[in-house]
Amino acid sequence: MVKVAVLPGDGIGPEIIESSMLVVNKVKEVFEIDFSFQKGLFGGSAYDATGTPFPTDTKKLVEESDAVLLGAVGGPKWDNLERGLRPESALLELRKRLGLYCNLRPVKYYNALENKVVWKPGYLEGVDVVVFRELTGGAYFGTKGRTEQEAYDTISYSREEVYRLAERGFELAQKRKKILHSIDKANVLETSRLWREVVNEINQKYPEVKVEHLYVDNAALQLVINPRQFDVIVTENMFGDILSDQAASIAGSLGMLPSASLGGKVNLYEPAHGSAPDIAGQNKANPIATILSVALMLRFTCQHEEAAQAVEVAVDQVLAQGYATIDIAGPGKKVVGTKEMAELIANIIK
Ligand code: NAD
Repeated sequence: MVKVAVLPGDGIGPEIIESSMLVVNKVKEVFEIDFSFQKGLFGGSAYDATGTPFPTDTKKLVEESDAVLLGAVGGPKWDNLERGLRPESALLELRKRLGLYCNLRPVKYYNALENKVVWKPGYLEGVDVVVFRELTGGAYFGTKGRTEQEAYDTISYSREEVYRLAERGFELAQKRKKILHSIDKANVLETSRLWREVVNEINQKYPEVKVEHLYVDNAALQLVINPRQFDVIVTENMFGDILSDQAASIAGSLGMLPSASLGGKVNLYEPAHGSAPDIAGQNKANPIATILSVALMLRFTCQHEEAAQAVEVAVDQVLAQGYATIDIAGPGKKVVGTKEMAELIANIIK
């Protein structure tokens, strides 16, 4: 039995989660996966109900689960709370508590969204990239200091931190096109030299995977001028933060981007976007990022590749049929709401 803690959160969170559950229930029925789902309070709505954004009951629920499916948290209503009570701090605590050192973001181009991207027609055909970003090390977590005239942030990586992240990239590259791009700045950074060394060491364990080392500045350029060359990317925290957002421009909308944070006993699956307070409660939100996050949960927690692919194929087909939520609408599209989009996707899964 796979136990999933479901944390709808704030803003569009409850509606995208409720809609994605239509897909989950269909998958459960078709593939006979033994799931159990239990909801927990999290974020601003948890603060309103209990006085804290991450209540003890939710902590217990999360720790007793195999995976967490999260909507989104935050909104103007809670922006003026002190830092520890803000919804976003609950998210940081959740990631830390679960030991999630690996953030995975697949970015795919959909032909049906051609009019939503800035590239020339046909240029992104076939682009399908997975970025593995190290999430708990590097400059964001290193020693920091500040005097009146000076400030510093330290980038530090241990061999083990690099190994565990990069090996996940190799594992996936081995199952996909057997190409791995490792992004660093080894011409100037000592941590990058260690990074490169460890990646080459792991390569001996996965000899079929071809490794390309790229400097981060060149990688940023290559993602624009030749995105088709990439398949699986591994990189450190800050480079990954920047490059995964840059790569996101390929998908056409924030509402299309799923994510998985892996590394602990319990993994976290959530859309890459926020709580979109401007469209909350209006059945306008795109549920696809959440539905594709469910596919990642099927792949990485349930180890059910067939079910994961069935969800991804269903998304492709619904988009190819011309259905769109408002964020991905355009000439000739059939505009549908959050719930209808999820129903269309669920109905295709057989
Ligand atoms: P946002 O991602 O919520 O929204 C940015 C824009 O994208 C908005 O116009 C929104 O309507 C649109 N959008 C986002 N998701 C969409 C979807 N699924 N379908 C259609 N349109 C969508 O970012 P923001 O406005 O900067 O932040 C709003 C709140 O979300 C803030 O409180 C912020 O702190 C929080 N936030 C939470 C997370 C998270 O929970 N992981 C991530 C980012 C931001």
